[in-house]
Amino acid sequence: NMQCRLAARPIGLPKDSDWKFTEEPIPEAKTDGDVVVKTLALSIDPAMRGWMNDARSYLPPVQIDEVMRAGGVGKVVSSKNPKFTVGSHVSGSWGVQEYAYMPKEIQSTIGLTNIDMKLGNVSQWLNPLGMPGMTAYFGLLDVCGPVKAGETIVVSAASGAVGQTVGQVAKARGLRVVGIAGGAEKCAFAVNELGFDACIDYKSGPKAVSKGLSEHCPKGVDIFFDNVGGEILDTVMTRLRRNARIAICGAISQYNNTTAVEGPANYLSLLVNRAKMQGFIVFDYAPRYMEGIQEISQLIKEGKFISKEHVESGGVKAFPAVLNKLFAGENFGKLVLKIADE
Ligand code: NDP
Repeated sequence: NMQCRLAARPIGLPKDSDWKFTEEPIPEAKTDGDVVVKTLALSIDPAMRGWMNDARSYLPPVQIDEVMRAGGVGKVVSSKNPKFTVGSHVSGSWGVQEYAYMPKEIQSTIGLTNIDMKLGNVSQWLNPLGMPGMTAYFGLLDVCGPVKAGETIVVSAASGAVGQTVGQVAKARGLRVVGIAGGAEKCAFAVNELGFDACIDYKSGPKAVSKGLSEHCPKGVDIFFDNVGGEILDTVMTRLRRNARIAICGAISQYNNTTAVEGPANYLSLLVNRAKMQGFIVFDYAPRYMEGIQEISQLIKEGKFISKEHVESGGVKAFPAVLNKLFAGENFGKLVLKIADE
């Protein structure tokens, strides 16, 4: 059972020496309530960078020598728990390892849940039906809600895991959707495949975001769903409409900073426009995930929603290199690390 553990707290972008690999015997369920899962695929998330810091946050930091935290989808291979039967598929945050031993006490903490493979495949359970999808769904409909048909929403990291679902759920509700993404290929995908009304390539030149917003949001922005922070957040703030809502979902442009994050310079736009800006954490919506799963799986079934996953191979050993792809924008769609076949 190969595992990837945190060896040192990174400064800036994680390096190989921040990780170490260990090998343990494949575990077995022994005591009542025990479950052992074989990992099929892991969700590679920007938030992982924050979990590596020794700082107060919404989850405790991963400790040095601890198996790195990660969400996954797997198959139960040994069980003394009637809720999780051998051969069934589950999701949960059991970490970067090939097999996970989960005594009863930790199963709810790591969110061990049965999943229905009729609603989506392994990768989709890590994307629109999993944590990123729920982030998009509740961030849009609850944090930015109520949303109204005809409103203009801007979403950053538009082709990524959260961004693709934000835009498509917003389109399904009649909003005008403008994405922001890095590169012509990602922007073309957002418009041609995801059905966004427009997508601004922020890498296409100086003031690209500002110019793109003038062109595609001439009346301003009602909702900004922000995944990246920094300059992009600052620029969009200058274009808010009255009663605008900004969801602070993430700030990936800041996660590897070695100096303090600078606050948004244009925040008085909130005052002028009677706007609000709110952060949120998806895990707070766990009791309501079924609402999101039902709506999104229905859209998938009706052919009104597509999901794009970027699946990397190489197993647990590949984890450090695959994680860093997120911070270079080298993922195109939800980044998934395949660990094993069924
Ligand atoms: P994505 O699939 O969107 O991948 C990350 C993308 O971020 C990259 O592909 C890249 O896209 C973009 N990016 C990377 N570096 C920069 C940069 N310096 N400036 C601008 N864009 C950059 O990841 P997720 O969908 O999984 O996550 C998106 C955001 O949502 C993250 O900030 C994450 O932390 C947050 N999140 C928050 C949750 C919550 O509960 N609040 C839960 C889940 C995620 P491009 O090539 O287009 O630049």
